[in-house]
Amino acid sequence: MDELKSIIRDIHDFPKKGIVFKDITTLLQDAKSYHRMIDLLSHHYIGKHVDKVIGVEARGFIIGSALAYKLGAGIVLVRKPGKLPSETFSKTYALEYGTDTLEIHKDAIKPGERILIADDLLATGGTMAAVVDLVQSMGGELVDCCFMAELEFLEGRKRLPEGKVFSLLKF
Ligand code: AMP
Repeated sequence: MDELKSIIRDIHDFPKKGIVFKDITTLLQDAKSYHRMIDLLSHHYIGKHVDKVIGVEARGFIIGSALAYKLGAGIVLVRKPGKLPSETFSKTYALEYGTDTLEIHKDAIKPGERILIADDLLATGGTMAAVVDLVQSMGGELVDCCFMAELEFLEGRKRLPEGKVFSLLKF
């Protein structure tokens, strides 16, 4: 794990001053690290039935689609407003300054389907909490919230259902 962690690059003051941005592109572009990361994440869910994986725009698409393929599941996109072409449900949530909105196609999840949500990084947990809300309001059964990395000091997992959070690399 330390080897994978060390490949993620810190970019200071991006996208704004004071933020240390975890740049995962350095891990993704290294074949050995990328494959190992997906293998380790998917291994965690072997034997747990998953109907669909949700990838959260945009870096969650990369992790979510690879996981879905490995687990024999479908892939569902949760996107920023105005990007999905058919009818959507949406969820607006609070950010440090202002709000953000995420959308999902109305027919993407059927009641009772077992859903794994994937994103690259857990920070404050606001984004993932909004996606969990969407899944639950559509009658999906949450298998887990899955992240490649977690900024533990922000305690984002406290905003998510207890026992339903897994992250591979903890910072
Ligand atoms: P949050 O809603 O605060 O948990 O933020 C999660 C989303 O914001 C994820 O989709 C991340 O890609 C992105 N994000 C937040 N903080 C960082 C950070 N320090 N480095 C990289 N990505 C971040």
